[in-house]
Amino acid sequence: MNELPKTLIDRFQRRVDYVRLSVTDRCDFRCVYCMAEDMTFIPQKHILTLEEIHEVARAFVELGVRKIRLTGGEPLIRNNILALIEPLGKTPGLDQLVITTNGSQLHRLAGTLRQFGVKRINISLDSLNPRKFRQLTRHGNLDQVLAGIDTAIAADFEQIRINTVILKGRNEDEVLELVDFAQQRGVDIAFIEEMPLGLIDEHDRALSFCSSEELRDRISQKYTLKPLGDPHGHAGPARYFCTGEGSPRVGFISPHSHNFCHLCNRVRVTAEGRLLLCLGNEHSVDLRAVLRDPNYTFFMLKHRIVDAMSTKPERHHFDLNEAPDIVRFMNTTGG
Ligand code: SAM
Ligand code: SF4
Repeated sequence: MNELPKTLIDRFQRRVDYVRLSVTDRCDFRCVYCMAEDMTFIPQKHILTLEEIHEVARAFVELGVRKIRLTGGEPLIRNNILALIEPLGKTPGLDQLVITTNGSQLHRLAGTLRQFGVKRINISLDSLNPRKFRQLTRHGNLDQVLAGIDTAIAADFEQIRINTVILKGRNEDEVLELVDFAQQRGVDIAFIEEMPLGLIDEHDRALSFCSSEELRDRISQKYTLKPLGDPHGHAGPARYFCTGEGSPRVGFISPHSHNFCHLCNRVRVTAEGRLLLCLGNEHSVDLRAVLRDPNYTFFMLKHRIVDAMSTKPERHHFDLNEAPDIVRFMNTTGG
């Protein structure tokens, strides 16, 4: 193949125009659904350098990717992360640079991120009770995250979304309070069903599972939820509702009860440079090996990415009652 295509299309005619880049597997939190208490992290030398991540991002943008999400682990604790974000924010052809963060560093970084071209930001928040927040994140400080959310609101991002994972018997009683919190601050909120990624022994995922339908019923006790189409024209995995004219949105991401694979437009790159074609499958393509090949060229990297599209699976199969097929934790995958 001497000529490379300008867009990435897989075997099922899905256009891939969105990449989630995990910039680190490290995190200052240890959320109970995401990580084990004692984690073994990837050795530093195996993690892509910021320059390598930038190279991967440029390759995807040249192949028609229009949206990049930086995630992790916690992207904002990666050393010198702004040195990656600043040039990425100026990349011609990249329409949307967005970040998913636990919010712990936003009180000091939100303004700079906005200035460097980050348009939208997702902030995880599972509880408004300091003690419960600490239990669910194991290390998190609620006040610091709330200060970060306020700083992000003041920084005027185009969109801020709170991401919440609800676990039965843990924080399900806070659903309405979390919706109130988001509505009062004028930010969206999305409830994510827990996914069986990584072996954890802190709780039994089958018992803690709380479906989007249950949450909708709870929220409907106070709010009238009107379904919304997707304002950006791409149907993503979140199904959104509004609570009134011009109100912030309430969304549900339901990998169990609502399969959205046929709409999938995304791939992921792990912190060690594995290109994952599907969140729910182990198959990956090693981009680090290409980047560190003594004869490396930018063409080789793009070529490897184009070839990988033919291996994107049709769909994921999550089953909470089976041992997880996916042994990697969410922090390695990049949520
Ligand atoms: N550290 C950042 C954060 O927490 O937002 C970014 C990475 S985190 C892996 C991305 C998202 O994945 C978070 O919103 C988190 O709640 C979600 N997440 C982590 N593990 C999950 C799981 N097993 N099932 C569903 N969502 C999960
Ligand atoms: Fe860290 Fe985010 Fe995973 Fe929580 S969900 S442990 S904040 S990577």
